[in-house]
Amino acid sequence: MLIPGRADMHVHSFHSDGQLSPEALVQLGIRSGLWAMVLCDHDTVEGTRDFLRAAEARGMKSIPGVELSTQLSGVSSRSGDKLDQDEVHLLGYGVRPDDPAFQTFIERNQEHRRRRMRLMIERLQGLGLSIDEPEVQEVAADASSLGRPHAAKVLVQKGYARDVPEVFDTYLGVGRPGYVPRRRNTLEEAVEAVYSAGGLPVLAHPGCHRDPLEVAGRAAALGIAGIEVIHRDHSFSVIYQLIRFARKRDLLCTGGSDFHGYGAEPDLGDLYAPGAWFCSLTDDGKTDE
Ligand code: AMP
Ligand code: ZN
Ligand code: FE
Ligand code: FE
Repeated sequence: MLIPGRADMHVHSFHSDGQLSPEALVQLGIRSGLWAMVLCDHDTVEGTRDFLRAAEARGMKSIPGVELSTQLSGVSSRSGDKLDQDEVHLLGYGVRPDDPAFQTFIERNQEHRRRRMRLMIERLQGLGLSIDEPEVQEVAADASSLGRPHAAKVLVQKGYARDVPEVFDTYLGVGRPGYVPRRRNTLEEAVEAVYSAGGLPVLAHPGCHRDPLEVAGRAAALGIAGIEVIHRDHSFSVIYQLIRFARKRDLLCTGGSDFHGYGAEPDLGDLYAPGAWFCSLTDDGKTDE
């Protein structure tokens, strides 16, 4: 059942590191009472068309989306969080998925991810583990953004660890022997790329950083259009502070579950933002045209 006004503006499909197809996400979202949903896969818009088509066919509101990993020096994440040192995520809402310059921007990142994966595999092999590129590719299947979770799954399958978090703790986490850092675009470059592709750049989950308001302030100075206020890693007090910050700076507010389809997270539909926030992402505040 579609419940008017419930918007999840941040979900992932198997085109990056999620478990579900874009169609399955839409189907599950509708069953979970979501009215609007945006696919924001990491560094890829591969699933955008399928997602929009599935949403339209079922009467769910949507627009294109993406989540870019970027570099902002001096930013630390809260302990236990999954972001590297200096890593900030930027959401791009309403980007034209077939914009040639944006495609190039994204493909450069994907190529870099492939090269980095080869380096990580070499390191793992150097540690005496049996793992090769075709195996990782097979696990990654439809994903165009190769990431550590894919290599981690191979290692779990082969019995080197009980589960994916254990692989990160032992081999692939920051500072572990199989880890290779990823070169990222600066936040500034990513903001520019999103605007150039006709989209609105929104700072993702600032509550994952040690100082959310400092990061939000720096991102605002770079010209972002909005802030992701509701997120599963945000405390009530961070949500309140971010809403106040956004209102003061005249920035849009967004929110979503960051659902990947793994067992350990909240279910789709459990966390959502007001539908009006979704509507404010489209030019004229309407989503029907
Ligand atoms: P990558 O983009 O290849 O650097 O991989 C980043 C992804 O790995 C994140 O989006 C998380 O999904 C996952 N990840 C990072 N750290 C951990 C961890 N400690 N345990 C489980 N998953 C993690
Ligand atoms: Zn992810
Ligand atoms: Fe993120
Ligand atoms: Fe995400």
